[in-house]
Amino acid sequence: MRLYFASGNDHKKKEMSRLLGGYELILPKEEGIEFDPDENGNDFIANAIIKAEALYSIVKAPVLADDSGLLVKALGGQPGVHTARFGEDEAGRKLSDSEKYMLLLDKMKGVKDRSAVFVTALCLILSDERRFIIQETCEGSIAEAPSGTSGFGYDPVFFISEAGMISAELPEGDKDKYSHRGKAARLMRLLIDMEAGK
Ligand code: IMP
Repeated sequence: MRLYFASGNDHKKKEMSRLLGGYELILPKEEGIEFDPDENGNDFIANAIIKAEALYSIVKAPVLADDSGLLVKALGGQPGVHTARFGEDEAGRKLSDSEKYMLLLDKMKGVKDRSAVFVTALCLILSDERRFIIQETCEGSIAEAPSGTSGFGYDPVFFISEAGMISAELPEGDKDKYSHRGKAARLMRLLIDMEAGK
């Protein structure tokens, strides 16, 4: 089965392709499709649905969307649904991944309770009537300093409790055992396999 993946993020595609091995994921940009929906939902599920529906209305073929972000307890759950846009100025200038996590470390200076959770919502649309949602989490904390080179985004500053390591320190692929996306994609895979009659 070919699945359109409602994202512009090559790192997410890499992880999701690893997790859904055997299914071909296609990013809209790979087929010249302009895709930048207004992610104005109040939570990850709402935004995953917005992305999936926006792409499905264009391709009219099976679509998977991932909306994810980091909720930091000491920051009242921020950056939350705004994780991708964290630190963006009024002119819309985006920060690089490292600028974003350094800004986060700055906001966390001197903070004792560093607990945080990554959340991923996946939305699969197979047809007009058949839509599925899965949301999963990865519990952890914000490190004092960045470490490691694997993964993407905030991985260098996210300590995964279950792994006992910073996410970016884990060898490629090991992150999937513990990550929000790994947990959600394994469940989604069961569903897709059933649909594909495997
Ligand atoms: P969106 O889901 O594309 O709106 O953006 C989610 C943002 O959260 C990404 O741009 C990353 O910065 C961050 N993010 C999501 N998942 C991960 C992850 O597994 N590791 C590190 N950062 C992540």
